[in-house]
Amino acid sequence: NNQIVAFVGLGNMGGPMAANLAKAGFVVQAFDLSEHALEQAQSAGCKTFTTAAAAVEGADFVITMLPNGQIVESTMLGSGDSQQPGLLGLAKDSTLFIDCSTVAAESSRAIGKVASAKGIAFIDAPVSGGTAAAAAGSLAFMCGGDSQHVERAKEVLSVMGNNIFHAGDIGAGAVAKICNNMLLAIHMIGTSEAIQMGVKHGLDPTVLSDIMLKSSGANWSLEKYNPYPGVAEGVPASRDYEGGFFVDLMLKDLNLAMDAAKSSAASIPLGAAARNLYSVFRQADASNGRKDFSSIVKMFGELPN
Ligand code: NAD
Repeated sequence: NNQIVAFVGLGNMGGPMAANLAKAGFVVQAFDLSEHALEQAQSAGCKTFTTAAAAVEGADFVITMLPNGQIVESTMLGSGDSQQPGLLGLAKDSTLFIDCSTVAAESSRAIGKVASAKGIAFIDAPVSGGTAAAAAGSLAFMCGGDSQHVERAKEVLSVMGNNIFHAGDIGAGAVAKICNNMLLAIHMIGTSEAIQMGVKHGLDPTVLSDIMLKSSGANWSLEKYNPYPGVAEGVPASRDYEGGFFVDLMLKDLNLAMDAAKSSAASIPLGAAARNLYSVFRQADASNGRKDFSSIVKMFGELPN
């Protein structure tokens, strides 16, 4: 395999994703603003570059895994001056661009419009699964774009994940991701308040969780990510909510959900409540922003020492 994959954004998610591509035999041309991220990518078998423009030279695929839509748009489309050209203008005609960042559908559509005017292939392909799945190569990808492009993307996406969905046109992947994370926030909060009410009545949180898991209250937060300390092993609740998926990132996704609701006239009363609860939780103590999102359980009662 001598195909070239340019990888831009080598953070908690992008780093291990790029490492898996290098392990699978792709030539990975990596770029990040952080020196530390570049060093790690190099030791994982990637070639590293000092600009994104240099990294995309000759690439068959360009993958971006960046913090937010603004950064993705400026990276892809450029800043308007020739000092910082957008990556879309620098690739080969046959290059396929894949944005895996969590962004608003509008950002994906804006990039898609420019790409299609230039005759360049682009899809949005945000991921679900978190850093453990990124390392294990077991992410889920939610793709938006032409079927042909999504089919072609599978060559690289299947190295990093094992569920690849085609959600619809460009932007549909972004919408699917935002819907999923809004629902995740809602059932995490619901699970937290239910367990805390049981505990206040003297129930053992493990017994109560077992009962609800076999009953109609069962859900992913309860089963795989129990927010109450001492119930499950290996989850953030068992390590003071360190690591995992930060409250700040969940808030970013819930704010994207609010925007998506406004632009489509959708009603999201529970999504809005979830956004406000996470926002209040974040404001009560700024350090909550970098705790795992299951720490929201603290809002509904004291935790055992
Ligand atoms: P991160 O902050 O760890 O990584 C982002 C990386 O992008 C950093 O290394 C940063 O230096 C780099 N960067 C920023 N601006 C850049 C630029 N202009 N050019 C090149 N590099 C630049 O974040 P992450 O956790 O890896 O998340 C990346 C994306 O994936 C986000 O959109 C996030 O919402 C999404 N996501 C994260 C998770 C998770 O569990 N962490 C899960 C699913 C999706």
